[in-house]
Amino acid sequence: MLADKDRIFTNVYGFQPWNLPAAQKRGDWDKTKELMTLGQDVIIDKIKASGLRGRGGAGFPTGTKWSFMPKEPRPDRPNFLVINADESEPGSCKDREIIRHDPHKLIEGALIAGFAMRARAAYIYIRGEYIREAETLFAAVKEAYDAGLLGKNACNSGYDFDVFVHRGAGAYICGEETAMLESLEGKKGQPRLKPPFPAGAGLYGCPTTVNNVESIAVVPTILRRSPEWFASFGNENNRGTKLFQISGHVNKPCVVEEAMSIPFRELIEKHCGGIRGGWDNLLAVIPGGSSVPLVPAAQIMDVAMDFDGLRAVGSGLGTAAVIVMDKSTDVVRAISRLSYFYKHESCGQCTPCREGTGWMWRVMERLRTGDADISEIDTLQQLTKQVEGHTICALGDAAAWPIQGLIRHFRPELERRINERQTGNGMQEAAE
Ligand code: SF4
Repeated sequence: MLADKDRIFTNVYGFQPWNLPAAQKRGDWDKTKELMTLGQDVIIDKIKASGLRGRGGAGFPTGTKWSFMPKEPRPDRPNFLVINADESEPGSCKDREIIRHDPHKLIEGALIAGFAMRARAAYIYIRGEYIREAETLFAAVKEAYDAGLLGKNACNSGYDFDVFVHRGAGAYICGEETAMLESLEGKKGQPRLKPPFPAGAGLYGCPTTVNNVESIAVVPTILRRSPEWFASFGNENNRGTKLFQISGHVNKPCVVEEAMSIPFRELIEKHCGGIRGGWDNLLAVIPGGSSVPLVPAAQIMDVAMDFDGLRAVGSGLGTAAVIVMDKSTDVVRAISRLSYFYKHESCGQCTPCREGTGWMWRVMERLRTGDADISEIDTLQQLTKQVEGHTICALGDAAAWPIQGLIRHFRPELERRINERQTGNGMQEAAE
């Protein structure tokens, strides 16, 4: 179990105030100027050496991403940092805890990361539903400006850096990085075709890097405590500590910082008081937010909770939003509900997603009630393959993968419902 002395987010539960004096007591904004004196390239090299991979889901190496930014930005085309605080993936609730209880970690990280990639400013795009969180963030940014930590000559470093907070309006798709840029520019939040990638032409056509809140908030601590310290946690290629968000049928759902690669069973036993009704009552787990395939109980017990460990069982770490389902769950209904979510959130720009998400949901609903033909299971599987990888952004994949996971692991349950419906035994269940 991660020792308290190794926690980065020391106020994640809000036991202390979030404000600047309290944050400084916790070590934030301590000699920030000296960290910046390391120089831009050294900071990027240190983040590379730490092994930090993006915490927003894709897991791309953060330092490498920063190194794609132009080293000598043109005066008329400044570099920008955009911080993704949209956090709309069902199951995810970690960035929220950082913002409302530890916002100065994020703001200091924005300055250092922005400086490292020679950005003129950072835009924090926070989801519209996070009303209190946005209020805290606005107040924390103001505190930082008033204390001379941001703005002209930030932290007396000689570097000018602004931080803007922008509130979204509640569309899931604005969490996709290029849709976020469109939304920031005041347009309808629809993903852009890539290339060009944001590092070449991003916000207002300028070089831009989009990073997740947690990826940015850990940066000052990595520099203070050393990349080697951060890399001492987790397995090869999966380094560092991570905020896990465990919801569903555990005894004590929680958000907790743990070492990467902790085995699933240990994570649940130590922090959540075990599975509701005991381990024999576990049905399946969605380990990384609603877009990754579920993993049945027998396969997940000893899996290392990291990018590679979960990929090996056909799923993914995503945002580490662990949704636990015990045997009381109607798993077909649960996945059908997710299908409805993706249908609702499709921006409608590309045909496979616009038509496919609705089609998949309608078949899922028939499978839920058993009002389908057995052959439709394979038709649905083929349909997910026609959507996956054939769309502008990853929402198409996100809609397809949960269904693929359901068919892979719960086909007998789908067939049982259809057979019972046809023989009249499942009438009562379907009516429910
Ligand atoms: Fe929009 Fe869906 Fe296409 Fe993404 S995949 S751009 S959400 S229609």
